[in-house]
Amino acid sequence: MAIDRYAVFGHPIGHSKSPLIHGLFAEQTRQHMSYTAEDVTPADFSTTINQFFGSGGRGLNCTVPLKELAWQAADRLSSRAQRAKAVNTLAIQADGTLFGDNTDGIGLLNDLTKNHDVAIANQRILILGAGGATRGIIAPLIEQGAASIVIANRTSEKADTIANEFIDLGNVTGCGYPAIADRRFDLIINATSASLTGDLPPLPPRVLADDGICYDLAYADKPTTFIDWANRQGARLALDGLGMLVEQAAEAFYIWRHVRPDTEPVIRQLNERRRPPVA
Ligand code: NDP
Repeated sequence: MAIDRYAVFGHPIGHSKSPLIHGLFAEQTRQHMSYTAEDVTPADFSTTINQFFGSGGRGLNCTVPLKELAWQAADRLSSRAQRAKAVNTLAIQADGTLFGDNTDGIGLLNDLTKNHDVAIANQRILILGAGGATRGIIAPLIEQGAASIVIANRTSEKADTIANEFIDLGNVTGCGYPAIADRRFDLIINATSASLTGDLPPLPPRVLADDGICYDLAYADKPTTFIDWANRQGARLALDGLGMLVEQAAEAFYIWRHVRPDTEPVIRQLNERRRPPVA
């Protein structure tokens, strides 16, 4: 029997953990499938997805910088992907059309609420950054009852634009960093790509409320610059995005295979891999 083929497309893609995660899910749930990582530039995207699905590929994940192109390529979108204007999961349907979804937001929520017992209801939330990831996480946070969401970005116009797209859902506003100086937040989510270059967004002091929680969507083998900042601020919890990565992958896996993998052992295994061996 031919093996069902899946892949992640992105650029760069070299260090992607997705093949490992989906390999572990497949082993755990006994699914006969392969999952590879392919370096695909925006210029090659259209040709490459046509080749992939034309030759029998079943599903794709798309990551930076392809999520918007994947959104355009989908024939049908979930409502959350439609809102986010970004797709990270494509699935071929029985009639040959492409279904596009965005599992980033539910991945973050599952990591926060199920894995770490963090309640979202009534929380004052600050999101740093106004890129694709921010678009994916706003609606699920509002649906969980967040009291307010402030999006702060270097380029404040981008934060305003996104806030306006979600304003019908709840209390969402956008601004630049100086405007948050006198405010306090219960949960600060770093959705900038600053951690990838070891940078810290220009956060004013004392924006984190007492007992506040910080979450960096980025992840690395050692604490990110933002996680270090959160610890210096006395955050009750300072989490990075490894759990979200596994949770968003589990949602994609469910869309493709209709089987829900257990994420806990996979997150544990990934965490063990990044811990330095005890001497
Ligand atoms: P984008 O490139 O779309 O957006 C990047 C954002 O970061 C922009 O708002 C940009 O600001 C801001 N930014 C970049 N550098 C700095 C800096 N030095 N200081 C302040 N702001 C900065 O990226 P994405 O939204 O796609 O991804 C954001 C992060 O989320 C990445 O680290 C990515 O790896 C992570 N991610 C993690 C996931 C997971 O499963 N854990 C899933 C999805 C994303 P400006 O607009 O002013 O340029």
